[in-house]
Amino acid sequence: MYDIAIVGGGLSGLISSILLSRNGFSVVLLEKNEYPFHRVCGEYISNEVIPFLEEHDLYPSAFSPAKIDKLTISSTKGSSFHTDLDLGGFGISRFTYDEWLASMAKNSGVELYEQTMVSSIEQRETFWRISTSSKDVFESKVVISAHGKRSKIDQKLNRPFLQKHSPYVGVKYHVKTDYPSDTISLHNFKGGYCGFSKIEKDLYNICYLTHRDQLKEAGSLASFESNVLLKNPHLMSLWENSEFVFNKPEVINEISFKPKALIHEGILMVGDAAGMITPLAGNGMAMAIRSAAILSNVIRDNHTNNSFDLQKIYSDYENHWNSYFKKRLWKGRQIQRLFFGSSASSSVAVITGKLFSNITRSIIRQTHGEPFSTASAR
Ligand SMILES: Cc1cc2nc3c(=O)[nH]c(=O)nc-3n(C[C@H](O)[C@H](O)[C@H](O)COP(=O)(O)OP(=O)(O)OC[C@H]3O[C@@H](n4cnc5c(N)ncnc54)[C@H](O)[C@@H]3O)c2cc1C
Repeated sequence: MYDIAIVGGGLSGLISSILLSRNGFSVVLLEKNEYPFHRVCGEYISNEVIPFLEEHDLYPSAFSPAKIDKLTISSTKGSSFHTDLDLGGFGISRFTYDEWLASMAKNSGVELYEQTMVSSIEQRETFWRISTSSKDVFESKVVISAHGKRSKIDQKLNRPFLQKHSPYVGVKYHVKTDYPSDTISLHNFKGGYCGFSKIEKDLYNICYLTHRDQLKEAGSLASFESNVLLKNPHLMSLWENSEFVFNKPEVINEISFKPKALIHEGILMVGDAAGMITPLAGNGMAMAIRSAAILSNVIRDNHTNNSFDLQKIYSDYENHWNSYFKKRLWKGRQIQRLFFGSSASSSVAVITGKLFSNITRSIIRQTHGEPFSTASAR
């Protein structure tokens, strides 16, 4: 019997496992894939997490992540707006970062099972029973689900956010090109936007979000890109001047930004499984890390005499999570509306930015958090 079982080894699962294991709990982490692997993500992490990561030796300095403190936004037709980012961020691929964190988890005493897909989580009288597709069964006193934006486990748990299909599709490439390493760009195209920024080594990340219907209409990704995306001259220039590293892009469907329950049938949700901020805000990974920090603190503080006070864990986690994240997720959805849509609305966003750079900065501030450490995570 483990103290804690964690489903999913992305950022939130890995960081939760490390913190909880270092707090003396026995932790098992179950990940369906094998590290290292790619995932759809813009791979820009807000600097708000740096004090916390450095405090726990989890900042990936050995990989020299790109340091990013400038932002360029362009409209579908290519008019653009540049600004400095007050806080900024760093760029590192999930391929590299997650694999390194997985090795840190193992070094911290976490029992990590890769290629282990969780198929059900059932509550018994005093413990949880976690079954996997490989027929291994795990038991724990507390269960955390860090399974990301969408997983079969959501279906198994019948989570309400699945009732409505989501039209959003995400696509990612890694490329080699020549571009300032300190600048993240957000280029609009009809019905979506594309982020571009430096990660480690000589690599850059291209990641875009669009509607499923547009892809269907175009017939293929290649034709969608040439007929819609590359109408933005910045994106055309990027495509023409880049060497694409993958044979084919990473793609995910059905990305939902709908509110989700934080605790479902006693299972503590963390990271995107608890709620996903729109990628435009560039802050999902920071939120995944911070929610892991909040949850680990709450679990640590409500464990006495070898027993967990689950009711207190639920209420404290809900209070801290809501006070920190609920408004940010809502603001992210409002900002996405401004950028996601017709050519006209994206131009408005850029013109507004030109006229009111202070408003743009305030939007960035509202969707990003303040730097935090373990003590101030909540
Ligand atoms: C298009 C796009 C661009 C983005 N760009 C950025 C960005 O630039 N900056 C930023 O901060 N955020 C960005 N995000 C958001 C960011 O990727 C997420 O917020 C972050 O990855 C959340 O981490 P997580 O740990 O919650 O989930 P994930 O990192 O998705 O990890 C979930 C893990 O659970 C595993 N899993 C799922 N189901 C099971 C199961 N049944 N059994 C076992 N394992 C399972 C998965 O394999 C995965 O490893 C972007 C998102 C999208 C869609």
